Amino acid sequence: MGETTPDFAFTESLDAEIGRAAETIEGAGHVVALTGAGLSVESGIPPFRGPGGLWTKYGEPPLDGFQRFLRDPARAWRERLEPTEPWARGLAETLGAAKPNAGHRALAALEERDALGALITQNIDDLHRQAGTRNLLEIHGNFTLLRCLGCGTRFESGALDIDPEHLPPRCPECDGVVKGDTVQFGEPIPQDVLRRCYEEVERADCMLVAGTSATVYPAAEFPFEVLRRGGTVIEVNPLESELTRLTTRFLQGPGGAVLTRLLEKVEALRARSVH
Ligand SMILES: [Zn+2]
Repeated sequence: MGETTPDFAFTESLDAEIGRAAETIEGAGHVVALTGAGLSVESGIPPFRGPGGLWTKYGEPPLDGFQRFLRDPARAWRERLEPTEPWARGLAETLGAAKPNAGHRALAALEERDALGALITQNIDDLHRQAGTRNLLEIHGNFTLLRCLGCGTRFESGALDIDPEHLPPRCPECDGVVKGDTVQFGEPIPQDVLRRCYEEVERADCMLVAGTSATVYPAAEFPFEVLRRGGTVIEVNPLESELTRLTTRFLQGPGGAVLTRLLEKVEALRARSVH
């Protein structure tokens, strides 16, 4: 990998718990990861709310953003192309400058080694994609993509000709209205992503939760579903969460350092089983 473990002082007990988590992953049939905003903090993306939060700093987007889009898609598109709202500019600048961190890279490497079958994320920041994760389910969309509201096709931002005189852009497949892929306030989770999430979760006998306390629907259901069927849940978070008392393994620390160590332990187990 050529990556060094990010600076973090592992206690002996945490190190041992990470070792047991690696054994759990190696013993599982289908591991699914679930990530959230906490994983991207080390990439320079603050959480939305709370002290230092994006919305605290720039003001909050309207809670009926999706309804506003439907009422006047052309106007919403003009705001997208040249944001005037502070929150929209702040979000675009923050996301545009962010790069994947060691946590994103470790998860991509686990998938590469067939230790991870799928990754469900609540993040819109594109960082899992940039890190190389392939089977990626973005519940809240991806800020770099566009999506047709008619047929659900996703487009790279540059793939469609956006004519400022003819907004909103239309889908070349079905002529439906195209909007940003990011799920706005008031907008339902796209059904295709949700269906694939449930399919992955139904197959999972181990869930690796990182950077989220998974308290918001639909993500909140996923760890419970895995546990209900007798599976295990591994949690990676810097602080205890509402999920912690239910988790099988709690790995307390920053995602970058802990997931990198977890990857190393999985690789060490494999090296040992070869000899
Ligand atoms: Zn379409």
